[in-house]
Amino acid sequence: MKFVDEYRDPELGRKLVERIHCCSTRPVRLMEFCGGHTVTIFKHGIRQLLPAAVEMMSGPGCPVCVTDNVDLDKAIALAKLRDVIVCTFGDMLKVPGSFSSLQQAKAEGSDIRIVYSTVDALQIARENPSRPVIFIGIGFETTAPTIAASVVQADAEGIKNYHVLSLHKLCPPVIKALLDAGEVRLDGIVCPGHVSAIIGSRPYEFIPYNYGIACVISGFEALDVLLCIDMLIAQIESGQATVEIAYRRGVRPEGNRQALELMDKVFEVCEARWRGIGTVPQSGLRLRERYERFDAERIFPVDPGPTREPKGCVCGEILRGVKRPTDCQLFRRICTPEHPVGPCMVSYEGACSTYYLYGDACGG
Ligand code: SF4
Repeated sequence: MKFVDEYRDPELGRKLVERIHCCSTRPVRLMEFCGGHTVTIFKHGIRQLLPAAVEMMSGPGCPVCVTDNVDLDKAIALAKLRDVIVCTFGDMLKVPGSFSSLQQAKAEGSDIRIVYSTVDALQIARENPSRPVIFIGIGFETTAPTIAASVVQADAEGIKNYHVLSLHKLCPPVIKALLDAGEVRLDGIVCPGHVSAIIGSRPYEFIPYNYGIACVISGFEALDVLLCIDMLIAQIESGQATVEIAYRRGVRPEGNRQALELMDKVFEVCEARWRGIGTVPQSGLRLRERYERFDAERIFPVDPGPTREPKGCVCGEILRGVKRPTDCQLFRRICTPEHPVGPCMVSYEGACSTYYLYGDACGG
C-alpha cells in the first residue's frame, strides 16, 4: 500500500459523495482558489460526481499564470543584461511575455538556467562570483519562506552576486480584491492547502465574517477535496459560514511560525500586479531595506518597455473566475500546451492546461 492510497480510498470517496448529494438542496458556486485543486478535481473526475447544483470555478491560484506581463518582461530584460545569469523555475520559461519569452531570450544567447530550488541558484552564485545571479522569485506564501531563507544564507556567507526579483503574491488580499470587485457570486471557497500550511487558517476569517462566504482549507488528494466540498456544503446549507480545515495533517490555525518569522525578517508587504486583476494593495512582498543589496529590482533597474497581452487570450477573466478555458476562442484550436498563447496553458496548474489535459474525460 502506498502512502497516498488512504487518501484515494474509493469506499470513503463513495460515502463522501453520497453525503454531499444528501446534504445539497440548492445551487451553489464554489471556487477552488488553487490550480493544484483544479488538477485534482479534473484528474479524479470529481465534477462528474457532484450534484448538478454544485458548480466549481477555477480561481487565480497559479503563480505562473498570475505573473503580470510587466513583471515577466522585466525578467526577460534582466536576462538580457551583460553577464547576468537568470535562474528560474521551469514553468516560467515558456510563458509568452509581451514580445518575447525567457525561452526565446535563452535561445538568443541569454544565460537562463532552470533550477528546482533556491539552493541551486545559490550554488550557481557561489560558482560564478564575478557574475550577477538573479533568481526569479514567483509564488505565493508557500515559496516565499524558502526564498527568504536563501537571502539570509547569502547574507551569512557574504555572497554578493545573488539577487532576487521578488514577484511573490499573497493570497488573502487577492481573494478580498476578487470579492470586492463583485464580478463573481460565490457561496464557498476551497482555500489553498500549501499556502495555508504557512499562513494558517486565521487570515481567511474576514471572508465568512465580512462576506458571509464559507471557507474550507483543502489538501490535494481526491478525498481531501471531497471532504472539503462536503464541509463547504454543510456550512452553506446550515447558513453558518466559517473557516474550517479539511487538511489537518498539513495545516494548523496559527500556521508555521518559523516560516512566517523568516518571511517577515526578509520581506515587507507591498502592492503587487496580478495578471487580469490589476494592482492589489498589500498583496506582494518586496525585500526589506536591510537586504536591499539582494533586491534585483533596486540593483538592476530596467525598463521593459511597453507591454501587450496576447490577442484573443482570456487568461485574465479565467483567473478572476469570470470565464472558463472553454470560453476562449483559441482553446485547443490555436492554443495548446505545445504552442501556448497564454500562461494558463503553460503551467501544469493553469486552468487551460488542466482543461486541455483532462477536459474530454471531465466535460471541460
Ligand atoms: Fe489564453 Fe490559451 Fe487559455 Fe485561451 S486557451 S485563455 S489563449 S491560455
